Amino acid sequence: MEQVSENVFVEIGFDGCNVSFVVTKQGVVMVDTPQIPSEAIRWRDEIEKHGPVRYLINSEPHGDHYSGNYFFDGIIIGHEGVRQAILKATLEQMKERVQATAPDDLALLEWFTYRPPTISFLNHLTIYLGDHTFHLMNLPGHTPFQTAVFIPEEQVVITSDNVIGKGSPFFPPDAQPFEWLESLKRMQTLKAEVFIPGHGVICNRPYLKDMIRMVQGRIDTVQTAIDKGMTLEKALDRIVFKDKYPPPSSSPEMTERFRRISIERLYKVLTETKS
Ligand SMILES: [Zn+2]
Repeated sequence: MEQVSENVFVEIGFDGCNVSFVVTKQGVVMVDTPQIPSEAIRWRDEIEKHGPVRYLINSEPHGDHYSGNYFFDGIIIGHEGVRQAILKATLEQMKERVQATAPDDLALLEWFTYRPPTISFLNHLTIYLGDHTFHLMNLPGHTPFQTAVFIPEEQVVITSDNVIGKGSPFFPPDAQPFEWLESLKRMQTLKAEVFIPGHGVICNRPYLKDMIRMVQGRIDTVQTAIDKGMTLEKALDRIVFKDKYPPPSSSPEMTERFRRISIERLYKVLTETKS
């Protein structure tokens, strides 16, 4: 666990996404939960030392960010799109997730249920707790429902997967590439020093430029292929993204899957924009 400011703590070592919490005078506010049950329980034990969980914010609609909600107390808050995604998640998906990475933990799922947000928002929601302010901002990009959490008293932004620390961006089928660039520029305007990414190492302000370059680079690469008249099949065959940083995944299979899905999404968006 790393302490990134006076009251903000982050764990980047769990399987799945980065998870964080903020200690206020009136309790703890968490962002995202570990997807592996035993890691969620370990995280809960750690957080308990700092006070009761008052609010749990989910930053995006992907299972690696919300599947562990079950193991925590507190009122869950998220974008309405995140709520809808969680309502559609199935127990089978959770079992597959755990089976693939920590089969011994299946025993911890006996009473498992998904816990969706019971407070949702569309654009912006502000939470005041103790001496802290939490600005929850919908900043579309990786998906339409990404939420950045800006805590001005700590000069910290928890970014969701719109930022990957020393890793490259992933465009799932509902990614919004141009909005993503705008969202990163918006983050640059926030008075913060620490940017906690959805995955990977903790980032600073200058890194946002790298992220913008990578998102723009992928858009440009696929646009060039389209301009050359490449079909999607050919683009999938030929395009190799050249980044400073690897994708946020350890296995070559996942890396290849992320590459193909990203190209498919960008190709679709860029050909639709043109027509
Ligand atoms: Zn994601």
